[in-house]
Amino acid sequence: MSSPFVDLHCHSTASDGTLSPENVVRLAGERGLSALILTDHDTIAGVPAAMAEAAKLGIDFLPGIEISADYKPGTMHLLGYGVDLRSQVLADMNKGLIEARDQRNPRIIAKLNELNVAITMEEVEQQASGEVVGRPHIAAILLRKGYVNSIKGAFDKYLGNGAPAYFDKERLSPKRALELVRESGGVTVLAHPVQLRTENDAQLERVIKDLLDLGLAGIEVIHSDHDAALVTKYTALADRFGLLKTGGSDFHGTNKKDIDLGSARGRRIPREWFDKLVERLEKKC
Ligand code: AMP
Ligand code: ZN
Ligand code: FE
Ligand code: FE
Repeated sequence: MSSPFVDLHCHSTASDGTLSPENVVRLAGERGLSALILTDHDTIAGVPAAMAEAAKLGIDFLPGIEISADYKPGTMHLLGYGVDLRSQVLADMNKGLIEARDQRNPRIIAKLNELNVAITMEEVEQQASGEVVGRPHIAAILLRKGYVNSIKGAFDKYLGNGAPAYFDKERLSPKRALELVRESGGVTVLAHPVQLRTENDAQLERVIKDLLDLGLAGIEVIHSDHDAALVTKYTALADRFGLLKTGGSDFHGTNKKDIDLGSARGRRIPREWFDKLVERLEKKC
C-alpha cells in the first residue's frame, strides 16, 4: 500500500529553497510521502536530480515549475505540471526570465548600497546555488549580516513591494504562461489563489473563469497560506468549475522556517489528487 499523502508544491536550491533537489526528495521519503512534484520558480534545472533520487526511493515524481504571471494588485503564480524536460519553449522562457533577473538583481544591490547596506552581487551569487537568483537570497544575506532579524524583516524593511529597495520583476501574461505550459506538454494549476488578493468572491470567480478559457486545469486548494475556511471555499469552487484540486506545502527549507514538507498548516494532501492529475496528463496525449 503506498502512502496516502503527497506534496505537489515545493522548492529546492535550483530556485529559492535551501535543500538540494535530492535532499527535498529524501525528506519526502522521511515524511512518508508517496509522490512529489518539485516546482521551482522559473526553472526545471532541479528536476533531473530529483527525479533520479525519487526513482531510487520508489517515490512517484512529476516535473513541475512555478511561473509568476502579470496580475494586479495581488500575486498570480501558475504551476506547470508534467512539462517535458526537453521542451525548447520552456528552455527559451527560462532563459528570458533569468536574463530579466540578471538585470534586476544589480539594481536591488545598488539601492541597498545607497542605503548603507554592505552587500555585493558576488555574495548574492554565492548564496544562490542555482541559476534563479532572487530576493530570498538577498534576504538571507541581510539576515546573516545582522541588518534584519528575520527573512520577513528583510522584505518588510528593504525588499518587499513598497519598500525602498523594491524593483518590479518582468512577468509573463497569464495567457502566455498557460500557452507555454501547454506547448511544453504540461497542465496549468492556479497556485495559492489567496495571494491574488481579489476583493470578493465574484472577482475571484471571474479570474478563474478567464483562466479556464485559457485552459486552466486546476486550482491549488490546500496550501500553507490557506486556512480551513479557504480550503472549504476553494474545494467548492474547484468542484463547481470541474477543475482538478491540488495541494502543496510550498516548502522552501529554512527560507520559510515554519513550513514543513508534506503538510500545510497541519493538513496533508491526498494521494488521490496526484492520481487525478496524472490521469489528466495521460488523457492529453
Ligand atoms: P523574487 O522572485 O526574487 O521576486 O522573490 C520572490 C520570492 O520571495 C517569493 O517566491 C517568496 O518565496 C519570497 N517572498 C516574497 N515576499 C516575501 C515576504 N514578505 N516574506 C518572505 N518571503 C517573501
Ligand atoms: Zn519561492
Ligand atoms: Fe508561489
Ligand atoms: Fe512556491
